[in-house]
Amino acid sequence: MAFCVPLNRLPASEGIFVLRQIVNGGAGRYHVGGYGRVAEVCAEYVTEHGGAFISGDRVRRILVEEGRAVGIATDDAEIRARAVVSNAGIQPTVLSLAGPEHFPPEYVERVSALEPSLAVVGVRYIIDAPVFEAPIILAYSDQSWLDDDRYARLQGGDWPDIPLISIGVPCLFDPSLVPDGHQVAISAVFASPDPTSETSAEAIRRSEVVIDELWPDLRKHIVRTEPYTARQVSRMTRDAVVPGQGGEAIGIAQVIGQCGSTKPDPRTPLAGLYIVGCDAGGRGAGTHQAVDSGFNVAAMVDADLPLKTHERR
Ligand SMILES: Cc1cc2nc3c(=O)[nH]c(=O)nc-3n(C[C@H](O)[C@H](O)[C@H](O)COP(=O)(O)OP(=O)(O)OC[C@H]3O[C@@H](n4cnc5c(N)ncnc54)[C@H](O)[C@@H]3O)c2cc1C
Repeated sequence: MAFCVPLNRLPASEGIFVLRQIVNGGAGRYHVGGYGRVAEVCAEYVTEHGGAFISGDRVRRILVEEGRAVGIATDDAEIRARAVVSNAGIQPTVLSLAGPEHFPPEYVERVSALEPSLAVVGVRYIIDAPVFEAPIILAYSDQSWLDDDRYARLQGGDWPDIPLISIGVPCLFDPSLVPDGHQVAISAVFASPDPTSETSAEAIRRSEVVIDELWPDLRKHIVRTEPYTARQVSRMTRDAVVPGQGGEAIGIAQVIGQCGSTKPDPRTPLAGLYIVGCDAGGRGAGTHQAVDSGFNVAAMVDADLPLKTHERR
C-alpha cells in the first residue's frame, strides 16, 4: 500500500529504504489538524518571511521568454519570478503548462512515456458509533497482491477475491474531528489511475462487500458516505494530459527505470523551470518523498539562482 505499484517492478533499493523509514519512524501517524495543516504551516513560513501565498487559483501557463521560464499566468494575473518550481506533476508541467515546444524532443518523449503509480480510491464513512477499533486497519487475503500480470487481469475484469484494503480512522488519533461517539474512517483500495476507468467504481464496490462482512454493524450507523475516485483525485492533484494518467496516488510510479538514479531530474532542460514533489528530487513513501523533494529542490534553486543581497530578508 505504501508504493502503489505492481510489486514485480518495485526495486529492492526503494522497498528497503521505505520500509526501514516506516519501521524506524513509527508506522502510521496523524498530523494534528490533518495533513493539510502541514502545508498550511509551510505557507505560513513563506508569508512570515516576506513571500506571498495565493491559494484557490490555477496556473494556466508557465511564461517562457528567450528560452527561460520567467513566471506563471493565471486567468487574471501574471507573476514573474527568478524560478518556477512546479508540483503540478512533471507531465502536466512539461506537456501542458510550459508546452512541449520548449523542450528537446527526446525529453518530451521520455516525459510522455513515464508511467503513473496506481490510484488509491475509496470511501469516507461518517458514522454515529465506534465501529472501527484501530486507527489503521489492513484487510487482505493471500491473493490480494498485484503484479503486472494480476493488475492486467484486474483491468480485464478478473479481480482478486479480496482487494487489498486499508482503512484509516483519523478520529482515533484526534477525537476532536467528530462529535462524541462518532467516527470518521477512510477506506482505500487500488484502481487504475485513468480518470475515465471503471476500475474505481468496481474497486470501491468490491471493498464494500469485504468491509460489510468484517463490520456487519457499519451500515446501521452510517450518517454519510463520500466515495472518491481517480477522477476526483485528478481534480485535486494533477491534470490528465497523457492517456491513462491523472488519478495516480504517488506521482510517477516508483518502478525500476523511474526511481533512484533514473528518476527525472528536478532541473528541466528549460532554464528556470524545476519539478518538485513526488515526480523528482525526493525519496521515500508518498508524502515523505514530496517533502524530501521540497527541501532538496529548494537548495538546488538557491544554488543555481542565488538571491542578491538586497532581495534577502
Ligand atoms: C487517496 C490517497 C491517499 C494517500 N495516502 C497517503 C498516505 O497515507 N501516506 C502518504 O505518505 N501518502 C499518501 N498519499 C500520497 C500523497 O498524497 C502524495 O504522495 C503527495 O501528496 C504528493 O505530493 P506532491 O506535492 O507531489 O503533489 P500533490 O500533493 O498532489 O500537490 C499538487 C498540488 O498542485 C496543485 N495543482 C495542480 N495543478 C495546478 C495548477 N495548474 N495550478 C495550481 N495548482 C495546481 C494541486 O491542486 C495540488 O494541491 C495518498 C494519495 C492519495 C491520492
